[in-house]
Amino acid sequence: MTTSTATTTAPFAELAAAIRGVLVTPEDPGYDQARAVYNAMIDKHPAAVAYCRDTADVVACVRFARQHGVEIAVRGGGHNAAGFGVWDGALVIDLSPLRSTTVNPQNHTVRVDAGCTWGDVDHATVAFGMATPSGFLSSTGVAGLTLGGGIGYLTRRFGLTVDNLLAADVVLADGTFVTVSDTSHSDLLWALRGGGGNFGIVTSFTFRCNDIGEAGTIIGGPVLYDLSDTPEVMRWYRELAPSLPEELSGWIALLTIPPAPPFPEELWGRKACGIVWCYTGPHDRADAVLEPVRTFGSPLLIGIQPMPFTVLQSAFDALYPAGLQWYWKADFFAEISDAAIDVHVKFGAQLPTGHSTMHMYPIDGAASRVAGDATAFAYRDGGWAGVIVGVDPDAANADRISRWAQDYWAELHPTSAGGGYINFLMNEGQDRVRASYRGNYDRLAEIKRRYDPDNTFHINQNIHPASEPSS
Ligand SMILES: Cc1cc2nc3c(=O)[nH]c(=O)nc-3n(C[C@H](O)[C@H](O)[C@H](O)COP(=O)(O)OP(=O)(O)OC[C@H]3O[C@@H](n4cnc5c(N)ncnc54)[C@H](O)[C@@H]3O)c2cc1C
Repeated sequence: MTTSTATTTAPFAELAAAIRGVLVTPEDPGYDQARAVYNAMIDKHPAAVAYCRDTADVVACVRFARQHGVEIAVRGGGHNAAGFGVWDGALVIDLSPLRSTTVNPQNHTVRVDAGCTWGDVDHATVAFGMATPSGFLSSTGVAGLTLGGGIGYLTRRFGLTVDNLLAADVVLADGTFVTVSDTSHSDLLWALRGGGGNFGIVTSFTFRCNDIGEAGTIIGGPVLYDLSDTPEVMRWYRELAPSLPEELSGWIALLTIPPAPPFPEELWGRKACGIVWCYTGPHDRADAVLEPVRTFGSPLLIGIQPMPFTVLQSAFDALYPAGLQWYWKADFFAEISDAAIDVHVKFGAQLPTGHSTMHMYPIDGAASRVAGDATAFAYRDGGWAGVIVGVDPDAANADRISRWAQDYWAELHPTSAGGGYINFLMNEGQDRVRASYRGNYDRLAEIKRRYDPDNTFHINQNIHPASEPSS
């Protein structure tokens, strides 16, 4: 593994002159803003932040860093909670100025620059009634989410984001450039489909798009129940979910109802168990498909309604702006067992702050029809990706939210499938990374050896290069 210590003696003025984008160093007034990432718990001091305007800038940065022994951190949307988008003493290669999208409605594809957020992509594709599977927020970066797998509203019907990744442009560790697809560098495409930022710097992605709803209008929204209903809701949900048509998907949460519209004032601040539903099929079938969802139990609120997909995708953006304290713990679950429900009930009652929450996202349907070794993303057994999220605006609560998430996870983990979604991990070490890739780790390590033998790209959920070529 590369262990080069940070050097501030590298001639950054040369790099600043070589690139079209802006290079920010500690002497510049914008430095504190440039080193900030989405998670305000992360407080790192990079040697410089390079805002790249084109692929040539990325190439120049990689070559410069290699030549001068400077570590590289790569940043797309900056959402990574572990904070790998910035690092002490590193050159941060920031792709955020690269924000263009090109939709091809005839081919059902979209080409996306690596600095885009999912909001950029949805804006472009939903105009044509189409979408690529992404996540549950529009402010998350395309690059990091895609490279880790991509779990969202459309996973059940159209697979993970990586199942819709057709091609990518990549700057490799030696500064060379390749376009990868199923017919060119297909080993690298396999690795990019879930292997994270280990293999190179992607400058653009090409995705398949899928027709959704009626001209991009879907039917979705939350159904909220009193927290005391959690056991009944979870048992009903775990039985119902697999039997639903794939046009309907719902993720389950424990939460505090936000004290803001559109939630009715009498519910503000009340703890709840909720399911956020998204139906993307034909609207004339919606009533029949949604009937069990609308009629179960005694909900506090049924917020299901027609809306453009972009509205559902961005519905929670305002609740979770950049700059909050953020600590999460994750696992995959093959089932929601009775023992797990007991743990959810215990820790749901102890939600430490209004923003703190627990989510379980289904990975079934189309995503589970892809074999576990067909892409780097290994957990496709038809279960859930769970994440326990401690969040608060106040840094004074950082310990409290972290401890709650750790304690909750420690009791829940025995009911899990072993690993966690790499995009939901903190900086938790090699054992967790290996557990998350299951049997795919060794193949990833071999591809890493081929494309990045010196582990130039190691500020991430790191896959160590295999030491020997495999026979
Ligand atoms: C509020 C919130 C909501 C989220 N919701 C979802 C969700 O619904 N579904 C889901 O699947 N995930 C979700 N995530 C997790 C998200 O996928 C990860 O945090 C992901 O790392 C974010 O990508 P980014 O580009 O914004 O992050 P960044 O911090 O910019 O990048 C993360 C890492 O990705 C790598 N990387 C970034 N850009 C490149 C590039 N161009 N080339 C090579 N490597 C690169 C680097 O290793 C980098 O450290 C969410 C995260 C947050 C904080």
